[in-house]
Amino acid sequence: AFEGLAEKLSNSFKKLKSKGKLSDADVKEAMREVRLALLEADVNYKVAKEFTNKVTERAVGSEVMESLTPGQMVVKIVNEELTGLMGGSEERLKMPAHPPAVIMMCGLQGAGKTTHAAKLAYQLKSQGHRPLLVAGDIYRPAAIKQLQVVAEKAGAPVFEKGTQDPVITAREAVKHARDYGNDYVIIDTAGRLQIDEPLMEELRRIKAEVEPTDILLVVDAMTGQEAVNVAKTFDELLDITGVILTKLDGDTRGGAALSVKAVTGKPIKFAGTGEKLSDLEVFHPDRMASRILGMGDVLSLIEDAQLKLDEKAAAKTAERLMNNKLDLNDMLEQFNQVRKMGPIKGILSKLPGIGNKVDDMEIDDRVLDRNAAIILSMTKYERSHPDVLDASRKRRIAAGCGMKVEDVNRLLNQFKQTQKLMKQFGGKGKRRRMPMNLP
Ligand code: GDP
Ligand code: MG
Repeated sequence: AFEGLAEKLSNSFKKLKSKGKLSDADVKEAMREVRLALLEADVNYKVAKEFTNKVTERAVGSEVMESLTPGQMVVKIVNEELTGLMGGSEERLKMPAHPPAVIMMCGLQGAGKTTHAAKLAYQLKSQGHRPLLVAGDIYRPAAIKQLQVVAEKAGAPVFEKGTQDPVITAREAVKHARDYGNDYVIIDTAGRLQIDEPLMEELRRIKAEVEPTDILLVVDAMTGQEAVNVAKTFDELLDITGVILTKLDGDTRGGAALSVKAVTGKPIKFAGTGEKLSDLEVFHPDRMASRILGMGDVLSLIEDAQLKLDEKAAAKTAERLMNNKLDLNDMLEQFNQVRKMGPIKGILSKLPGIGNKVDDMEIDDRVLDRNAAIILSMTKYERSHPDVLDASRKRRIAAGCGMKVEDVNRLLNQFKQTQKLMKQFGGKGKRRRMPMNLP
């Protein structure tokens, strides 16, 4: 999920970050692109518009524009607003005043209610709880059987009363849980293809009967905006306490994840990411936001690398490295490869976990160019046999590239260090002692 959105955002931000100073027009243009990307990811129209307006408002005409890295600052604001859009921080299940906690699952047919009732039971069990599953879908003949099968995998008991009125079954299940020490009751309910009055009436009656601690609406992320409409209707009729967004492992464009909270005011508490019982995650808005933003950057980094790195040259260097044959030609090749990918800060900032921390780093791209120039001033033979370089040759080389002899020596020392390191790691399986400087 989210790849398309992530890539589009990443492209817009690349443009922003490449600019030293930003004008109001630059920000507005970027936000226009962000809005389009959000709409294409199936984010609700109003949500997308309000989102970009908010980011623009915070960015334009403030100290952001005067900062040293305005592009990065705008991305930071987007990250914060994206997190806020999805609810800020994660929301867990509510704690009841008296156990058991009663969780009522609801939603349309096929959304994943039964699967996620079992996933929840499985997760609760792993945390040391004693969940009881309740079969409240009595209309589809195979529904009870399906719940029993997944419940057995989860290692949780099922309370079922055949086709008895699910309202009564729910009441009896809660009493059963009290008597047998189950601290969570998870009620699976029936769904329909469409929201209709008899379904809602039944859910309202179950709600009134057992007063659930949590009413979790299960929605299928693949249905995009429709998922959000469904959430809105269910919330108006049942006052849900949260959402489980399922099938996020699929090919969804992610719009539902971004709009549900904004449209309904109710948080996404869990995300379903597969058909297995363990494929249930607590929904973390901040992680989701960094995933959408960070992933885009990583994707574009990989693309860059694939475009620009010459694979054959890299393989050759690796082989020479294994055989302890590294020379200055290889070093030159490395400099060139890195140079092709653009400014080093740009490369680093795309790596997960580094991001805008590079703003505080002192990195001078010219070092690479200077070192490359020194090597280029040597003859081919000298590059593969740097030991032959004597004082007069070093002076000539320094003069040739407009640098000092110290610079040449520094590069040669750096190379020797690298070579030494390679020797220690190399030797193909032979164990070597680290050299020790004992007095
Ligand atoms: P219900 O009608 O709401 O009870 O839906 P089910 O729990 O029966 O699920 C319907 C289908 O969706 C089943 O085939 C599930 O295996 C599948 N499913 C449920 N959740 C997920 C999920 O998070 N990811 C994927 N890939 N499939 C899911
Ligand atoms: Mg079901």
